[in-house]
Amino acid sequence: MNHTISSSAAPGAAPPQAPPRRRPPLWAGWLLLGAALIGLHYALPALGAPGGWQAAVYCLISGGSAVAVGAGVRVHRPPSALPWWLVAASQVMFTVADASYYVITALRGDTAYPALSNVLYLLQYPILGLALVLFIRRRTPGGDGPAMIDASVVTVGATLLYWVFLIGPTMTTPGISPADRFASVAFPVMDLLVLTVAVRLVFGGGVRNRSYHLLSAVLGLVLLADTGYGLQSLTGEYIPGGWLDLGWLTSYLLLGASALHPSMTRLDERVEQGPPELGRTRFVLMSGATLMAPAVLVLQYGRQGDLDLLVLAAASATLFLLVLVRMSGLVAAQRRLAMTDALTGLSTRRSLQQRIRHEAARAVRRGTAAGLLVIDVDHFKRVNDTYGHPAGDEVLTETARRIRAACRAEDLVARFGGEEFAVLVPRTTADGLAALAERIRAAVAAGPVTVGGSVAVPVTVSVGGAAVPLHVRTVEELFQAADAALYEAKRAGRDRVVLGPAEVPPPDTGAAEPGPVRGPGPACDPAAEPAPGTDAGTQEQVARWAAALTGAMGADGNGPASRLHVQGVCLAWAMMRTGVGGRPVWPVRQAAEELRRCGRTHLDPVIVDAFLELVAAGADGSGTDRFRPVA
Ligand code: GH3
Ligand code: MG
Ligand code: MG
Repeated sequence: MNHTISSSAAPGAAPPQAPPRRRPPLWAGWLLLGAALIGLHYALPALGAPGGWQAAVYCLISGGSAVAVGAGVRVHRPPSALPWWLVAASQVMFTVADASYYVITALRGDTAYPALSNVLYLLQYPILGLALVLFIRRRTPGGDGPAMIDASVVTVGATLLYWVFLIGPTMTTPGISPADRFASVAFPVMDLLVLTVAVRLVFGGGVRNRSYHLLSAVLGLVLLADTGYGLQSLTGEYIPGGWLDLGWLTSYLLLGASALHPSMTRLDERVEQGPPELGRTRFVLMSGATLMAPAVLVLQYGRQGDLDLLVLAAASATLFLLVLVRMSGLVAAQRRLAMTDALTGLSTRRSLQQRIRHEAARAVRRGTAAGLLVIDVDHFKRVNDTYGHPAGDEVLTETARRIRAACRAEDLVARFGGEEFAVLVPRTTADGLAALAERIRAAVAAGPVTVGGSVAVPVTVSVGGAAVPLHVRTVEELFQAADAALYEAKRAGRDRVVLGPAEVPPPDTGAAEPGPVRGPGPACDPAAEPAPGTDAGTQEQVARWAAALTGAMGADGNGPASRLHVQGVCLAWAMMRTGVGGRPVWPVRQAAEELRRCGRTHLDPVIVDAFLELVAAGADGSGTDRFRPVA
């Protein structure tokens, strides 16, 4: 809220207070401190400090990162702290490994990796991997097969590269002790394990906030630095304290920031949508991975000059690419199918649901509103029952066309299911949404839909709508509010628009305050037309049927409860056979079926049977399909 402090404040009013000074967020503070320490780490040799100092600063940053992760857990209290504690533990392991390396080599006076340090370094990976597995399991509790397969494709490609350039050469390098050889092979293997889990985390979808991006950057940096280290070790180029260390140092910084950022509490949130589709980035990554083997063959051709290798490489690369192109065509076709409703050609519920969050967030960011209209065809069951299902389909198709035509190009019109439609309205206002809803209602009701080439079927729709942030704040509330408004539109008589978060009234009380009601269309104005069965003619008819029925049932029909049931059956029949507002009446056979169905739920089946016997004898006055009052 904006407060304007006037200089002519009333005497005695409290003096204006200075706004509270905002402290920089913890994560930003840690990044600043860490960056300064990294600067110091690289400045120390130039300042002539002894080598131990640089090692000490290195361990300070590495250990500080573990402390930062612990602090993040204590401050933000994530719902599940265990994965974060494991991340901290793996970082502690790293720091201890580094410290042991520096101490032991200083005492020994050489730079060979002590076995103890190697074991500690290696232990860090399974702990980090376990933490990532826990995050993944919490994000996708039921597993995510496609993401696992995609991650495996990328990892197998990377494994091939590691084998050719790192593991293979390390295994055959002469003059290395078995322990060192084991360690040199074990590191790339551990990296590949972490890579598998990391790629699976990335491919599995779910929350992608600041903390997630920082953690992903950490994993990327560690893997890059480890690979660089492996390559440099092979050629003997690695120098402790050199520029390669910057990769690890930066990863420590980002790791601490990832845990200190408040968004860390949502990192293990369950993935809401299904597994993400094969997006462009993933497709490129997977294609790249499948081309690793031919690429290696080309390299070997360069070394050996064997033409067979080149032919093999070209053939397998072409085969991979052809299969990938074919697959991507299938994926695109499947996506089109999933996003387009077969009957109406509109978007599907799925495609609306995929866009609505994005539009709601964008509207809030830009200071406008995103609206949702839910549209339901009135008494559609009657259309099916009277004219048949294929005619119902024709009505749905034409209704969809009219709704689409009433909307703007940027509105997303979807068939939400059955005879229900929804429109996602990006960038709107309260008046704009109301005008659009009314335009849709009027467009559908404008004239009857012609089915089967000649039969005119009058169609109306009820529209419920709401907007973020005008009426509600979240997308979930938006759906609920639009649904409640639609319910209210139906309750108020149909063929009308209700906007705003109308509360659903508890049954029979009707107490809730409805949102603003627009319409109704002329055909459904309750003032102009009596509720079904309440006009004088029908009431008279019902009374006459009830008397005839009670007579036919003899003494059984004379109790007060029985009289009520008899009237109920007759009224139900009248409603089905007379119709409302010129709408089609039900044919005798269908009305009879419906009455029998009601006899299994709300009406007394004995009375229903007795009444239908009278109907069969022609006592309802209609030997034809039309209700004709008997004299
Ligand atoms: P209300 O005014 O309360 O909405 O009444 P209604 O009869 O429209 O409501 P209800 O939801 O009971 O009926 C919806 C009907 O829509 C039931 C179903 O048979 C019909 N329907 C659903 N999908 C299709 C479809 O694809 N084609 C056809 N022809 N009918 C469908
Ligand atoms: Mg419906
Ligand atoms: Mg309906």
